[in-house]
Amino acid sequence: MKICVTGGTGLVGNAIKIFSDMIDYHTFYYVSKSKADNNYGKGLDLTILKDVDDYFKRNQFDYIIHLAANVGGLYKNMNGNIEMFNDNILINMNVLSVCNKYNINRGIFCLSSCIYPNNPSRFPMDETMIHESPPHISNEGYAYAKRMLEKQCSHYNKAFNREYICLIPVNLYGKHDYFNLKNGHFIPMIMHRFHRELLLGNELVAYGTGKPLRQFLYVEDFARIILDVLLGEHYNVTTPLICCNDQEYTIKNIVDMIAFYIGVDTDAIHWDTTKSDGCMKKTVTNAKFKSFYPDFHFTPIDKGLEKTYGWFKENYPYIRK
Ligand code: NAP
Repeated sequence: MKICVTGGTGLVGNAIKIFSDMIDYHTFYYVSKSKADNNYGKGLDLTILKDVDDYFKRNQFDYIIHLAANVGGLYKNMNGNIEMFNDNILINMNVLSVCNKYNINRGIFCLSSCIYPNNPSRFPMDETMIHESPPHISNEGYAYAKRMLEKQCSHYNKAFNREYICLIPVNLYGKHDYFNLKNGHFIPMIMHRFHRELLLGNELVAYGTGKPLRQFLYVEDFARIILDVLLGEHYNVTTPLICCNDQEYTIKNIVDMIAFYIGVDTDAIHWDTTKSDGCMKKTVTNAKFKSFYPDFHFTPIDKGLEKTYGWFKENYPYIRK
């Protein structure tokens, strides 16, 4: 099978590469805005339908793992709702239309637990509650675009008998993350900031109250799930699936763990409570996941953070930042 992976240079794309190299019988082609495999000679901007059509027509893929998105942390979302809505709507519309046009019958599409309602009727939230009520105001652009992706997939499945499966990971972290100090997600951003401020001898500042609750998934666990859902026999339906373990942490728990690996005294951290907390809680359930994968082994957060920080230090000159 020829499998196209969009978002190949990203956090999840790089994790898929680790495992795809060990898989026989399938060939994976990685594509992103800046780079593309298969002698394409340039990157592929998925917001441009003509280029997307050209790339898929030339390659005649069998399956797709669609990861590409305009993604970012709380502060990027708050400042970029219009751009994130437009980019993600365009990317998903273009990708889905060419998948259907060139007869790609099965694929994985990525949603996120952060698109869920801000004030749901109950916790934990499950796969049926994505569209129940509005998302948190801070990331409306990203959230509504991703919610539409779920609708688009479900309609292609109904109308054309496709198997376009939406996976819903919680916050992801790991090697090859985007460690930008302004626009990154919480874990890579705080890791980079503390690492840098410590070297410079500056005060260590964490944003918000530290009280919001969050769930985290090590990216290599998510990559294994994607590949099994796409190619294995465990997940035999096409409805969305939340991917997470049983644990939930406060932001402060995670900041303290990162501080430990960096070698910072947690008492030295100043919490700037004038900064936004974002959504206080968005707990989702893994009940459905466990019913299909009762024996799945998740990487514990301390091991995941240790590996991520080790990789970050070793590769500092080359990391995305
Ligand atoms: P990432 O590290 O930010 O990488 C984004 C990828 O998308 C890059 O390869 C980028 O290409 C590509 N891309 C962005 N805009 C593009 C465009 N216009 N045309 C073509 N490619 C484009 O993202 P990630 O963290 O791996 O996320 C993968 C998926 O998981 C996304 O769908 C995201 O919504 C979802 N997700 C992520 C998280 C998380 O915590 N990271 C949590 C839940 C769900 P270039 O590098 O070449 O620009």
